[in-house]
Amino acid sequence: MAAGGLDARFVDRLSERHTCPVCLVALREPMMTKCGHLICNDCVRPLARRGRVVCPLCREEQNESEIYPNNYDKREIMSLKIYCDQQEKGCGWKGELRERETHNETCGYVDVLCKHECGEMVKKKDMESHMKKTCMNRKVECSCV
Ligand SMILES: [Zn+2]
Ligand SMILES: [Zn+2]
Ligand SMILES: [Zn+2]
Ligand SMILES: [Zn+2]
Repeated sequence: MAAGGLDARFVDRLSERHTCPVCLVALREPMMTKCGHLICNDCVRPLARRGRVVCPLCREEQNESEIYPNNYDKREIMSLKIYCDQQEKGCGWKGELRERETHNETCGYVDVLCKHECGEMVKKKDMESHMKKTCMNRKVECSCV
């Protein structure tokens, strides 16, 4: 669904200013139009026709060259508080949007494919016990002595 924007589980309701009028989620690389509206970089480009862009919010027509990246709002958006993408699986992490990728790398609730190639998806934090106890491909000690 969200091609251009940043879809995340925001702690507070996302303000209208920070919602892209095209993809309807949080702005990624926000661009400020001449009329003062914000649209994701990826969402504004397809709107251009021969260098002219009609703002989807107020219908004002302007030159593509009059639309600039907006770092102030980008910083604000990256500081918004979010919950972990794995929240419903039980992760209690909460932090800023800018920290999401770092957290996802260490989040124990992300499903990963078992390293022993049993074909199962296991939560990162359960991988050790899965490989030792329940994995079909685990090494079983020989008991035929
Ligand atoms: Zn967008
Ligand atoms: Zn506008
Ligand atoms: Zn997490
Ligand atoms: Zn396994």
